[in-house]
Amino acid sequence: MLTTRMQSLKMHKLKIARTPASDISKEEPLVVRLKARMQEMKEKELMHNGNVDANSHVCKVCFESATAAMLLPCRHFCLCKSCSLACSECPICRTNIADRIFAFT
Ligand SMILES: [Zn+2]
Ligand SMILES: [Zn+2]
Repeated sequence: MLTTRMQSLKMHKLKIARTPASDISKEEPLVVRLKARMQEMKEKELMHNGNVDANSHVCKVCFESATAAMLLPCRHFCLCKSCSLACSECPICRTNIADRIFAFT
């Protein structure tokens, strides 16, 4: 019982050890470099998107207060409390605001 388990573990380890080595030998150095570059750009893009995300928590009308109101019926969460009360339609999709849900922050 225990020995069969050990054997399967060993085989598993062998598989893991083999895969990355064969991948590298197949690839040209240029491709490797390009891949690294693409990965770098992806990471930068992710960071950029993260920043955009942080900004999206600011009210889309006054760009000062944090978003606090979800508009109904469109459910866009993009305005602070005072701007949501001042607007009659959603600034994103132009749906008439029937009601607002205020979040506590
Ligand atoms: Zn506002
Ligand atoms: Zn909307």
